This record gives sequence, structure tokens and C-alpha cells, in this order.
Amino acid sequence: MTTDSRVGVLDGIRRRFSRRWKVGIAIGTLLVGVNWLGYRLATNDVMERLAGDPEAVASVRRMAEVNAFLAFVALAVLAALAVLFFRPLDRTLSAEAQWIRDLEESQSIDVEKRRFDHELHEALEMASDEAGATAVVRHVLSDVVPERPAELKLADSSDSHLVVRSESPTAGRAGCDVAAPYDCPAVRKAQPLSFPSSGAVNACPHLRGRVDGGCSANCVPLSFMGRSMGVLHVIGPDHEPLDGSALEKVTSLAVQTSAQIGTLRAFAKAQLQASTDGLTGLINRRSAEEELGQWLERGEQFSLAVIDLDRFKRLNDAHGHQAGDRALRLFADTVRRTLRSRDLFARWGGEEFVVGLPGMDRWAAVDTLDRIRLALVEACARAEAPTVTASFGVVDTACGESLDVLVRLADDALLSAKRSGRDRVVVGPIDIGPADEHVSQLERT
Ligand code: GH3
Ligand code: MG
Ligand code: MG
Repeated sequence: MTTDSRVGVLDGIRRRFSRRWKVGIAIGTLLVGVNWLGYRLATNDVMERLAGDPEAVASVRRMAEVNAFLAFVALAVLAALAVLFFRPLDRTLSAEAQWIRDLEESQSIDVEKRRFDHELHEALEMASDEAGATAVVRHVLSDVVPERPAELKLADSSDSHLVVRSESPTAGRAGCDVAAPYDCPAVRKAQPLSFPSSGAVNACPHLRGRVDGGCSANCVPLSFMGRSMGVLHVIGPDHEPLDGSALEKVTSLAVQTSAQIGTLRAFAKAQLQASTDGLTGLINRRSAEEELGQWLERGEQFSLAVIDLDRFKRLNDAHGHQAGDRALRLFADTVRRTLRSRDLFARWGGEEFVVGLPGMDRWAAVDTLDRIRLALVEACARAEAPTVTASFGVVDTACGESLDVLVRLADDALLSAKRSGRDRVVVGPIDIGPADEHVSQLERT
């Protein structure tokens, strides 16, 4: 039996019981009254007839008095039954029915809240990036608080600025001017705050003068693993802040959004760390192998250059490891500027790099690589850093079918560049004709 029908049955029983005991008491009272009245009339009549016999009259009067006493006792018993038994029982039944009704109401609120939380969780889980998560926030705001201006402000990557990332599609932005996470009282307190009126002395300073005639506000901070991420901010009419289930839903929206965006950010950071080199910001060898493998699978034509900085150990020894790191960064920045956006540039390991130039054969690639050599000399001079040079071995997809083969051939060409004096580009495979033909003739000026 459902709670609904239990309440219905109990209510029916209580109503029937209430009606019946009241009718019973009323009928009892009526019968006692009729009996008393009838007896009284009959005894009066008898007494009139026996007027000449005082003893008989006295005896009939006593009978009438006994009858009146019994009627009084019967009324008292009926009243006692009504007051001490039926009415309390009636009230108990009524209270029980109300209790079940309240229970049912709170259960249905719980069920609704669980349904909302579950749907929100599913929607956010499907969001594979922050844009997806903030789109879910927009949707939910329009469902839960369609009449209230609202916005989600999130800290940017520096954690020092709050930027509006989502707003109510039905009522627009809430217009909070808070610019940094710790300027927001809700973020500082790390708990949801409710401001009934912007005119109150203890209202958030960012609410003052925002809406003509004042407004109320609810601010729910977002945090992930103890780190503040932003705030979900909803405003409404003066003296009417959100409460009840709407407030619970907005709070749940903030909590679940924090969890999803926090997870997405942590995942993106881990992915970036796994695929890039921390010193230069270039993609690492694993990512480069993956991407070059995909180029080969797609049958793209490209040239591949392996680059090694010259006498780098000497630079480290002479100027220190930090100067070596600076030189690596300078080299990476210089090459990045020289290449096209679709070219691949990776740190292969240590002071070795790899460049992939799609759509270019190995002979055309020499020009690009020679430009890198020149740009490197200029960059070192501009940065007033020790001069660094690099040697290059370059091949293209006509030289081999697998990445392993291409890298090995480019490595051989690089070795040849080192052996023939460094700071030059050697085109591989080096066993095609005499080595000198493949050495770039470009001289540094
Ligand atoms: P070659 O011209 O024959 O390539 O000589 P080389 O000195 O560059 O080659 P070698 O392999 O002898 O030394 C490479 C040096 O690069 C040794 C290592 O300490 C340095 N190195 C590798 N990775 C880093 C790095 O991340 N930072 C710094 N500062 N040095 C690095
Ligand atoms: Mg090396
Ligand atoms: Mg080297």
C-alpha cells in the first residue's frame, strides 16, 4: 500500500469515527432528555391526580427525583465519554494522519531532490570540457530560477581573476562586479551566503546600488579539493532571497559543477604534463611519436629532421646548468618562431629535438633548417647569451616507411653533420652519394 493510500484510509477512518461518536453522543443526550421530560410530564400528571393523598404524591415526587438524578448521571457519563475518550482519540487519529501527510511530503521532496541531483550528475558527466559544463549550468539556471538573474564566475588559469563563464539564458546576468576570488565574501568564508536585502547594513558590498529599489542575493562558492574556483551568484527581489528547494538545487548545482570542472581541469593538467616537456613547453617524444605515427598512417608526405645542440656539455661546464637550461629555452623559442603552425616540433630528450615538416621534401626542408641556424645565432646575440649552434640530419617519407627507419636515417645524417664539423644540415640517407653533396653550403654571416 502506498503512503498516499495509507493517508487516505486513515483519513476516512478518522472522519467516520468522528462523525459516529458525535452522532452517538447527540442521540444519547437526546434520549436521556426525552426520557427525563416524559417522566417529568407523567409524574406531574400522576401527582395532580393524587392531589388528595400527600404520601402517594411524595412517593411519586421521589421517583421523579431519582429519575432526574439518573438522567443527570447519564448525561455526565456521555459528557465524560466525549471529553475524556472520543475527542482525544479523534485528535490522535487526526495528528497521525497529519504526521503521515508531512512524512509523505518530505519524502516526495527527497525523491525530487535525488532525481534532480542524479540528472545533474549525468548531465555534467557527459560534459567533456568546461564549455560543456557551463552550458549545463545555463540550462539548469533557466529551469530552477528562470525569473532570477544569475551567473557563474570562475577563476582563470592564474587563479587571480574571476570571469563570467555562464549566465541565466532567461533572466540574464546578475551583474556582480567582484573581480578576484578573495574579494567575494562567500569565497572567503567558503560557505553559501544569503543576503535578504542589498540595503541591509550587513549586505555584501558588491550588491550596493546595483538594482534600483534593492535586491536580495544568494552566493554559493565553488571549490575543488579545498581550492576556491569561483562563485555561483543569483539575485532576486528585495527581501526575497532563495530558500527551500530552489536554494538546495542552486547549492547542489554549484557543488556538482565544482567537482566536474575541478576534475576536468586536473585531467587536462595531467594530460598536458604527460605530453609536454616542462622546461621548453614543447611536446615530448611520446607525443611526437604518436603524432608522426598518425601522419604516416594517413600517408602524409613530410620531412623529418633530428637536431642536436653542439658541444652542449661544454656550455654547461663553462656557464653552468642554468645557462644551459636558458639556452635550451632560447633554442625552442627560436625554432617555434621560425616554423609554420602545422609543423611539428618536439623535445626528443636532453639537447636533442625533432622537427616534422608536412608537405616538404628533404631538399626543401634544408632551407627551413638553415633559417633556424641563422635565427639561432641572431637570438643568442640579442639575448647576450653564449652562442649555441646545432647540427641537423634530415630525411623525408620517400626514404623509409616506418618512423623507426626515418629516425634512424635522420640520426645517421646528424652523425655525419657532427663528424663533418657541426653547425650544419646533412640530408640523408647518407649512403646516397658522397657525404659532401648533402652538406648545406650555407655559411653563417
Ligand atoms: P655534441 O656536439 O657531440 O652533441 O656534444 P655535446 O656536448 O652536445 O653532447 P653530449 O652528449 O656529450 O652532452 C650533452 C649534454 O647535454 C650533457 C647534458 O648534461 C646536457 N643536457 C641534457 N639535457 C639537459 C638539460 O635539460 N639542461 C641542461 N642544462 N643540460 C642538459
Ligand atoms: Mg646529444
Ligand atoms: Mg649535443
